[in-house]
Amino acid sequence: MTKPITRLCPSCRAPNLLRRKTCASCVCPLQQSGKDLQSWAKSVKANKNSHRTLESAHVSVTKLNALGYCPLLFVGRHGRKGEINGDMVHHIPVNDEVVREILKKMGKLYEHLLKRSQYEIIRLTLLLSTALEKQFYAVPKF
Ligand SMILES: [Zn+2]
Repeated sequence: MTKPITRLCPSCRAPNLLRRKTCASCVCPLQQSGKDLQSWAKSVKANKNSHRTLESAHVSVTKLNALGYCPLLFVGRHGRKGEINGDMVHHIPVNDEVVREILKKMGKLYEHLLKRSQYEIIRLTLLLSTALEKQFYAVPKF
């Protein structure tokens, strides 16, 4: 019997099957792209092609569904006024009130996660600026 190929999570060092995209233990992303995503994103935004990338993701969800997978794509974006706009793409039949409520709650949870991560970034920025101020204004001891 062959042993399944695993790779270690960069965050928690738990072994994960090679095909997994997130760690089974700590849910951190396992894929590390070698591409320079920042420059790619800058180029896409400059050419106003973000919509094309989003459409491509929607097509991928449809194709995965046709292949028998059950994909669920959450897409969130910060609006111009700082608000969070969340959406999801799925192929789950919504002919049941319970299913509809579950999907609504999943969407709200996703938006909550995005808001929380936004607050976390603001909190860390404030902590960092406070630490830098303390360091800058600290009186050297002789
Ligand atoms: Zn992990």
